[in-house]
Amino acid sequence: MFEGDWNYVVVGAGTAGCVLANWLSADPSRWVLQPEAGGQNRNPCIRVPIGYFRTIGDPRYDWCLQTDREPNLNGRRLAWPRGRGLGGSSAINGLIHVRAQRQDFDDWERVVPGWSFKDVLPYFRKMERHLVHSATSATSSPAARKRPKLP
Ligand SMILES: Cc1cc2nc3c(=O)[nH]c(=O)nc-3n(C[C@H](O)[C@H](O)[C@H](O)COP(=O)(O)OP(=O)(O)OC[C@H]3O[C@@H](n4cnc5c(N)ncnc54)[C@H](O)[C@@H]3O)c2cc1C
Repeated sequence: MFEGDWNYVVVGAGTAGCVLANWLSADPSRWVLQPEAGGQNRNPCIRVPIGYFRTIGDPRYDWCLQTDREPNLNGRRLAWPRGRGLGGSSAINGLIHVRAQRQDFDDWERVVPGWSFKDVLPYFRKMERHLVHSATSATSSPAARKRPKLP
């Protein structure tokens, strides 16, 4: 089924897989195969913030995983939703974009050099696109974000 002269195989069309495959296939000389275990995710709730109330727990969109029994929860298992299909978990997530705090990155940097806030900020700027003008964001980047409207 997947015979061909592929240069790269990116397994799973989830959040990271789609970014990687998009980047790799931007060069037309590269052949990229991206098999995905789930379906095409055409349910309109996938595009609606908090539409996950209709997708979580549905095996068409969610792997419906469960944790092991938790001794500290009286032996109960917990639901552990993970997206299945195009977009992966981003198809069933809350569609909320939050940068971690400056201090979080600076703490990580102590054990993983190169992950300070100063180091990662240029990549956030490259990735983010405010729908409202912002001096700190790029104008052509893949991740559009919008400030929430308060009632
Ligand atoms: C309910 C929920 C709400 C969330 N809310 C937010 C939020 O508001 N904001 C936020 O930033 N993050 C949120 N997250 C987290 C975020 O969505 C995930 O961290 C992110 O999508 C994970 O990306 P990933 O590429 O690691 O994996 P995924 O996006 O899960 O991609 C993995 C892909 O691989 C596929 N796959 C697995 N096994 C195979 C196989 N053997 N063959 C082929 N394909 C396979 C899966 O079907 C899936 O499509 C939420 C997550 C969940 C579950």
